Amino acid sequence: MEHVSIVIAGAGQAGARAAEAMRAAGFTGSITLVGSERHLPYERPQLSKELLLGTQETAGLIKSAEAWAERRIDLILDATVIDFDGNARQATLNDGRKLPCNRLLIATGTRPRRLSDIETAPLPVHYLRTIEDARAIKRAIDVKARIAIIGGGVIGLEAAAAAITSGCSVTVIEAAPGLLTRALPKQAGDFLRDRHEARGVVFRIGVTPSGVDAEGVILADGSKVAADIIIVGIGVEPEISLASQLGLDAKDGIKVDCHGQTEIPEVYAAGDVALQFSALHDRWMRIETWANAQDQAVNTARNMVGQERAYVAPPWFWTDQYDINLQVVGDPIVAEPILRGDPATGRFTLISHRGDQIVGAVVINTPRDMAALRRLVASGAHVSRADLENPALDLRRLVSAKS
Ligand code: FAD
Ligand code: NDP
Repeated sequence: MEHVSIVIAGAGQAGARAAEAMRAAGFTGSITLVGSERHLPYERPQLSKELLLGTQETAGLIKSAEAWAERRIDLILDATVIDFDGNARQATLNDGRKLPCNRLLIATGTRPRRLSDIETAPLPVHYLRTIEDARAIKRAIDVKARIAIIGGGVIGLEAAAAAITSGCSVTVIEAAPGLLTRALPKQAGDFLRDRHEARGVVFRIGVTPSGVDAEGVILADGSKVAADIIIVGIGVEPEISLASQLGLDAKDGIKVDCHGQTEIPEVYAAGDVALQFSALHDRWMRIETWANAQDQAVNTARNMVGQERAYVAPPWFWTDQYDINLQVVGDPIVAEPILRGDPATGRFTLISHRGDQIVGAVVINTPRDMAALRRLVASGAHVSRADLENPALDLRRLVSAKS
């Protein structure tokens, strides 16, 4: 495929892993990885964990500059792909540069949903997506500030854990009636809330902010949360400027098939920005996880260089808060969960079982269960409810019995 020149727009997890996978698949044509940030491609999960806790100074690089060069992957940083013309065989950068390109991968990720009304308020307002964002929040945490966190999602809860551990006072304001209600069964959300409250985090649940003054955040019920700084983690939006420029209808993400291909044959999309059909959930969805940014991107990369294969993997993610490692696979809220273990011990598993299949699960400090559950969800193996309700049954035995 010497005649193929590939440009990858976005040097995050998806773009970087895709570039690497193209070479690993034996592709010998040119690969240019273009990233809007000025850093070498890095991993984001540490930003809201190790960086905020101060146990790590910076995020881990996906590869060193030398390793990219060794693979003949050209990196262009601090630049944005703004256009692609398949007929002219070129991609255009924001500084006017033209790159030879007859196949494009859009891996432009997401950006934080903003609360623009409060950005002009008299208190500093932070979002968390980049290394710079994490460093700015870390500086605020270090002065032991009073922190109001708007949004009790993964960003909000990981930031709350780091801030309270560092000696700040922390209030989390969450609009929904519970924590992570779209991602977790109620028992798991309540467990997290209890653990945060035990450390001193205050929750204001089921209420939205209506304004900010010099003393803190004013809530819709008229009460106030005293604060010196505000962290907003209310979800993300797909970064679709390039896709829109190419004429793709991408309001909710860039629609791709199981090969990562968009409606334009020579244009592919991967990672957070890709809108995929999930048979498990029976709907189109963007999957905003590290594992998807890695695996769906690698699969798309292989398809782009001629190794046709479909991507079918249930979503999987983890979060670390204090001594809690929580992992989620598939759709854990579709059915009333089966509880294995005792939440009072801080170690338990919730399994979502529909028909005679496991469609999702949450494990809390039971990672061995997750190794089995990922395989059982992915394979669609038939498993009886009675087996899952049997506390003596090791889930790993189900995997070996079904394989
Ligand atoms: P991104 O990481 O958003 O990368 C896209 C890149 O493209 C960005 O650098 C952007 O600036 C650049 N870009 C945008 N437009 C252009 C353009 N036109 N040209 C060139 N470049 C462009 N997931 C988990 O499963 N577990 C975790 O514990 C976890 N922790 C997280 C912690 C934080 C703080 C954050 C922010 C995310 C976390 N995630 C976690 C989610 C995971 O990191 C994301 O799903 C993953 O980073 C998505 O990768 P991506 O490459 O698709 O997008
Ligand atoms: P999430 O979607 O996880 O959570 C946002 C939360 O904020 C939701 O509970 C949402 O409620 C709530 N919310 C929305 N609007 C308001 C409002 N106006 N006031 C108060 N609460 C509000 O997004 P995050 O911002 O936490 O995370 C952003 C991205 O980072 C995601 O892509 C995520 O995957 C990634 N990430 C992943 C991590 C992990 O997997 N461990 C860790 C950190 C980040 P509702 O659902 O009702 O809208």
